[in-house]
Amino acid sequence: MNIIARRGVIYGLIIGVTAILLSTAIFFISAFRQSAGVPEQILIALVLGGIATALFGPVRTGTEALVDKLFYKDRYDYRQIIQSVSTALNSVKDVTEISHLVVSVIVSTLNLAGGALFLRTQRSSFDVGATQGIFSDADKQALLVTLMSGRNKLIEFPNPATNAFSDLAFLVPLTAGGKEVGFLCVSRKASRQAFSSDDRFLLQGLAAIAAMALYGAMLLRDVSVRDTFVSVASHELRTPLTVILGYTELLLRRDPPDSTRKQWLKNIFDNSQRISSMVDDLLNVSRIQSGRINIKLDRVKLSDVLKEALTFARESTGKHEFVVDMDPDLPEVQLDRDKFGQVVGNLLSNAVKYSPAGGRITLAVRNDKGQHRVVVSVSDQGIGIEPEDKERLFTTFHRIQRPETQGIRGSGLGLYIAKEWTEAMGGKIWLESELNKGSTFFVAMPTNYPSESNQRNNA
Ligand code: ADP
Repeated sequence: MNIIARRGVIYGLIIGVTAILLSTAIFFISAFRQSAGVPEQILIALVLGGIATALFGPVRTGTEALVDKLFYKDRYDYRQIIQSVSTALNSVKDVTEISHLVVSVIVSTLNLAGGALFLRTQRSSFDVGATQGIFSDADKQALLVTLMSGRNKLIEFPNPATNAFSDLAFLVPLTAGGKEVGFLCVSRKASRQAFSSDDRFLLQGLAAIAAMALYGAMLLRDVSVRDTFVSVASHELRTPLTVILGYTELLLRRDPPDSTRKQWLKNIFDNSQRISSMVDDLLNVSRIQSGRINIKLDRVKLSDVLKEALTFARESTGKHEFVVDMDPDLPEVQLDRDKFGQVVGNLLSNAVKYSPAGGRITLAVRNDKGQHRVVVSVSDQGIGIEPEDKERLFTTFHRIQRPETQGIRGSGLGLYIAKEWTEAMGGKIWLESELNKGSTFFVAMPTNYPSESNQRNNA
């Protein structure tokens, strides 16, 4: 229907323009009829006829463009868009960038109120890949994940099975290589118009190429994680082991004075601890990735857990000043005492490591009653983090390579484990940072949990 109307308008306009030209020609011919002879009249008619024919093409294209602009803003060629997205995806290898590209094309082409792409994680849950518009809200995202969990077919809304979301139009699973790599959330159009068959073809086409691109990027990432694993593990295990072997050999061969012996033993002890913590990190990553995070939730007095983590951090440095800033009316919080202690301990140890010139480290705890949560934060005045590195820090083995981080030891696993554990306890972790000024890491734990369940096992 649309196309017929469109053609009608276009040809109407072309006929109008041609009619104007012809009437001008007739007008000229009759005006010059008296003074001009027959050959001149024929010549004028031929010239005007030629002009009308030459103008037909450009007039038609121009009129079509004008009509499209005025009446058919939403028209697009879905094959062309799929083709250009597919070409653009060839040069993008990162899952987050792929997600952003796909969501922004879908939202802008279909003029949606919002769009989101969720990525399947190794522990069979979903992470946000990209969001736009109405799906930027964290509570909505959690709801979307619940709606999609355990399903692998396109869901169209409104849907009798759920009325949770009035703005949601489609949940589209993304599958490639026989594997579910994520899903796409599509809101209703901002104009509230219904989805046409072209819109559906576009969605299906983009979902298929997005799934392929994500699948490829995930495979590549796994390979590079494996490579990084080998290089980090060999460096982080091999280096301390070499130091231990060197000093034990020295101790066996020589008989140094007491003070030297103590120093050598301390070196052996420190490096053994380094190996032990690396092995712990690797075991924790393996548990997380095979879905075996064992969380034991208890009602805990936060100040007790934080004091332990703080004592350890204080002992590890002589260069830093520690400031504690706690709200006086903190409620008891439901969490896994050991794991939460290790999360905060890791943030404090990073604050020390990544402010090598010293400075103030602030441990703050706020009771955010409005949002029913307690927020623990660790701030430093160290080297800071660039915005584009923020999200990647929470993935396995990601370490920022900058001149300032050269020589600072680490495995790139601490923040990954911290994020997985925090989320498994029902919390959230994020950061704010300014390059060369310092960073603040936040961990928020809910305080409005159901009272009867005090034990959760993610097995
Ligand atoms: P590790 O410290 O063992 O490398 P993490 O997972 O704890 O691993 O941290 C990952 C990366 O994040 C670090 O390598 C570092 O580049 C960066 N980082 C973490 N905490 C800070 C901080 N407080 N300030 C600046 N950079 C940080």
